[in-house]
Amino acid sequence: MKPIKKKWTIQIEVTNACANECVNCSRFVGHHKKPYYMDLAVVERALDSLQGFRGGIGIMGGEPTLHPNFAAICDLMKRKVPPHKRLLWTAGYNWNKFEEIIRNTFGNNVIYNDHNDKTQKHHPMLLSISDVVKDTEYMKKLLDKCWVDQRWSASINPKGCFFCEIAAALDMLFEGPGGHPIERGWWEKGPEEFIGQQERYCRQCGACVPFVPVTLEDRHDIVSESNFRKLTYIDSPKLQQNKVKVIKGRYSEQHISAAAENWQPWNHLGIRGIEGTRKYRSKGVRFL
Ligand code: SF4
Ligand code: SF4
Repeated sequence: MKPIKKKWTIQIEVTNACANECVNCSRFVGHHKKPYYMDLAVVERALDSLQGFRGGIGIMGGEPTLHPNFAAICDLMKRKVPPHKRLLWTAGYNWNKFEEIIRNTFGNNVIYNDHNDKTQKHHPMLLSISDVVKDTEYMKKLLDKCWVDQRWSASINPKGCFFCEIAAALDMLFEGPGGHPIERGWWEKGPEEFIGQQERYCRQCGACVPFVPVTLEDRHDIVSESNFRKLTYIDSPKLQQNKVKVIKGRYSEQHISAAAENWQPWNHLGIRGIEGTRKYRSKGVRFL
């Protein structure tokens, strides 16, 4: 596991509400009965907890601009985070309403992906690796190279602090025990302090199983059997609406190696704020 202090960014996930319902959404939009909106006091505590962190600090959702206190969240960002470290992920909902505030707060560090380009691909995170990969050594090899862990972010949501944003989303969806308390310096803890999260969530997750890409034109989330049972248990609305396709059985190593050719799930973005991300990169923070 990559130490959190070396990750390029930590996300504060202020809501999981979204106006879209993309297939294979990594925050599982459509599977929750009710969205959350992080309390402003918790957002402030999250920002305070990240003092001293050298990477970027992202405001993310769902769709962050749907948070009823989005403008106040921007104010907090301005008060507590240096300009070059502020990042926003948005699908552009409420863009007209908040453009000025967004530009004043985040400058060009806006990762704007409206998801209207239906050729974009989303990797299925609910394809549990322990369902579809039999060989435990091979599974470990795949997990050790997880692209999300290596390239993406740690996360804070209302349930606490997580080493990985997908682990955080799984904990939220399946009502897990939550993350580390949101307190100053949590991100300085070493990987050994996150082993519990890793053991609980990595085997439920499909991030590192190479899979033939699914475009946003597809109508169904790809889900393996154990996650299908969990979605049934939580009474997922998306499941009730028949927007889930269940994958049964296991994949051989040869099948996975074939799917791994040209597999680059991290390359799925259609970003309007790309000039901003370049500028951000010049600050020494890597953007994919
Ligand atoms: S826009 Fe983002 S958060 Fe919203 S459903 Fe699509 S992938 Fe999920
Ligand atoms: S939870 Fe999933 S995405 Fe996160 S590190 Fe584990 S395998 Fe990778």
